[in-house]
Amino acid sequence: MPTSNEFTVQLDEELCKGSDCYICVHACPKGVFVPGEHVTSKGLRLSQVKNPEECVGCRICESFCPDLAITITEVPQIKKAAPSAERKEFTSTASGGWTTTPSSLEPGAHYMMGDEACAEGAIAAGCGFYAGYPITPASEIMVHLTKRLPDTGGVFVQMEDEIASMAAIIGASWAGIKSMTATAGPGYSLMMENIGYACMTETPCVLVDIQRAGPSTGQASRTGSGDVMQAKWGPHGGVEIIALAPWSVQEMYDLTIRAFNLAERFRVPVIVLGDAVTGHLRESFQVEDTVRVFNRIKVPGAPPFGTDDEAGVPPMPSFGEGEDLLITGSTHNRHGVRKTSDPDVHERLVRRLSKKITAHMDEIVDYDLYFEDDAERLVVAYGSTARSALWAVNEARERGERVGMLRLKSIWPFPADIIRDWGDRYQEIIVPETNLGQISRVVRQHTATPVRLVSQTNGEIMDPRHVRDFLLGKSRREDN
Ligand code: SF4
Ligand code: SF4
Repeated sequence: MPTSNEFTVQLDEELCKGSDCYICVHACPKGVFVPGEHVTSKGLRLSQVKNPEECVGCRICESFCPDLAITITEVPQIKKAAPSAERKEFTSTASGGWTTTPSSLEPGAHYMMGDEACAEGAIAAGCGFYAGYPITPASEIMVHLTKRLPDTGGVFVQMEDEIASMAAIIGASWAGIKSMTATAGPGYSLMMENIGYACMTETPCVLVDIQRAGPSTGQASRTGSGDVMQAKWGPHGGVEIIALAPWSVQEMYDLTIRAFNLAERFRVPVIVLGDAVTGHLRESFQVEDTVRVFNRIKVPGAPPFGTDDEAGVPPMPSFGEGEDLLITGSTHNRHGVRKTSDPDVHERLVRRLSKKITAHMDEIVDYDLYFEDDAERLVVAYGSTARSALWAVNEARERGERVGMLRLKSIWPFPADIIRDWGDRYQEIIVPETNLGQISRVVRQHTATPVRLVSQTNGEIMDPRHVRDFLLGKSRREDN
């Protein structure tokens, strides 16, 4: 049976209709098949497996053959072919990891809109490619990058829509460039399929969602936080997602840098869940002399889609580096070869995609805790709502209420352990949200302590008096 080091190529001559078809001859990217030399008794000149050693197991031929005449089989006991001499030279050392680079902005204080600070954070993190489609209240990110990216050697492309934008940044990432897009509610919905594709193909990239008051077109220039659950459950297949929630212009800068670092570290799309308040707010923020950035790990010759560690993050090659790269959203083995009907490969892959996030919570989860020493009640807040909540907590404390606050700077993966371990210290947990209750439901899942939702969905920043009055018992209306 014709074989490469890793794959056998089997052609069933009873099924092949040869010169009436020759799809495999044209479809195989490696020229494995050629038109046969002799004619059968049925008058057919069959396809012939001529160069089986070239087979890389992409299974294009198997998928395209209309008569199911081709079977590609992986040879499990044979290890991946040693890199060619040329590639050995190239691949002698692994690269990537943490490094420190000079800041791309003048160190010191800057005064900008949150969207602009986000764009600057991207440049500071090494973003070299932005693809996007304008949408309120995220457009200022792309407008800023049209001016700034070319100055830094980067590329800006306005795409025809959000689907194409997400696809473009995935492609750029595989070309070896840190990439980003930004959008708001309706555009975010359009990006979902490709976010799932980025999860499955382990493509690092950053997506900024400047949330606005939905659903649908809603109040395009007003705020809300209705995309929190969509961030987690939008992509089908139940993947783990990393999402960060800035509450200030400073964090629009800092957390965008962090989003790039997490994307590269874990090879995932990372979402910055801003909102119209943090996006359009103008305030000063501080830029340090240097920026800590993580560059993707490269171990040339190593499988790009699997590790021996069940929670591992594989190294990531780029196109043009001499690797045989197969990138598919279908179930694939560690070499990227499609394995769409192998239950073991699928189970192992899906679990690793999840575990590479959940096993590294200590590297991802980020929060601030206020007044923990004496707090009898706890406010859990995130994003711009946390600004209102902290004002309300201070007001309540001045009136003798022992209230503390947990501010989630990362929302997904949800820090369930914190709520589970600390929850019963408190008499109640109060969750103010500019939606109908999304994180409050998650908090409730992890504690027996009563969880109260303070909800506002009018497109305005959370009214701090509303939260204060709830904490003072003046308004005990529960919103769910
Ligand atoms: S695609 Fe299938 S049927 Fe067509 S020539 Fe190739 S092996 Fe034969
Ligand atoms: S699996 Fe891919 S490389 Fe191998 S013979 Fe089929 S098309 Fe060609």
